[in-house]
Amino acid sequence: MTEHDRRNATEDGARARESAPRPLVAVTGASSGIGAALAEEFAAAGHPVLALARRADKLAELDLPRGVCAAVDLLDAAATEDAVRSAEEVHGPVDLLINNAGIMPLGRVATQDPEEWRDAFEVNCLALLRTSQLVLPSMIERRSGTIVNVSSVAGRNIYPNHTVYTGTKFAVHAMTESMRREYAEHGVRFIVIAPGLVETDLLATTSDPAVREAYVAGRARLGGGLNPRIVARAVRQAYEMPQQVCVREIVIAPTAQAS
Ligand code: NDP
Repeated sequence: MTEHDRRNATEDGARARESAPRPLVAVTGASSGIGAALAEEFAAAGHPVLALARRADKLAELDLPRGVCAAVDLLDAAATEDAVRSAEEVHGPVDLLINNAGIMPLGRVATQDPEEWRDAFEVNCLALLRTSQLVLPSMIERRSGTIVNVSSVAGRNIYPNHTVYTGTKFAVHAMTESMRREYAEHGVRFIVIAPGLVETDLLATTSDPAVREAYVAGRARLGGGLNPRIVARAVRQAYEMPQQVCVREIVIAPTAQAS
């Protein structure tokens, strides 16, 4: 084969990959903020997207030409499994799962309602494990697939009023790295992304108005958080690396955010 033929074959291969149908991407917490941006980012790149969250009205507003929107509470394991299996029947197996859904009930342990602790660990940690378990066996069998877990810089650092939230996000970091090591030999990639401040409605899940006020003031002093689309773009760039390349961790924050 001449150099000319080789170059043509490579270009034909790249073109074939570009025109091949894109695999299914599942995004949890897709009704707002980072999740909505992720769903739209991957839909714009030609993927069928399974968008999961509780608010059906918000999911319906997304721009997902080949989207499957499923209004489910991730704490309902059976409903979540039904949604994933129904989407897979139409679009094939999930190739990318993005565990993005999360809540941030900030506060002090001495005064916080313990129900908030339970909710935070349920949504931020246990739901992530359940959805991962739904897609992992098929990924292992296919020796391909990617799971992205959305953690936070609060999965690496400690901040005031963040005891429970930071506990859930340190757990997300640890569990992601542990699963990455367990499934590396099976060809499955695990990526943890740790955003700093992002402009979303996440603070609505903090019940204490004084804590909310302090957080908003701190964010304003830094000139605001990142646009969620920036976070979504970083995830897509990592996913689009060849399957043999695993971007293990992405830490992305406003330049003005020091910690
Ligand atoms: P949003 O509040 O905009 O998004 C949270 C999403 O989680 C919503 O779509 C919500 O959907 C979904 N969700 C919450 N509980 C459930 C549930 N029980 N079942 C299904 N879906 C649920 O905030 P963000 O976009 O900011 O948050 C996304 C992720 O990013 C979270 O994991 C958060 O911890 C992380 N993060 C955010 C940062 C920020 O500064 N904003 C910084 C670092 C990390 P619905 O209510 O419709 O169910």
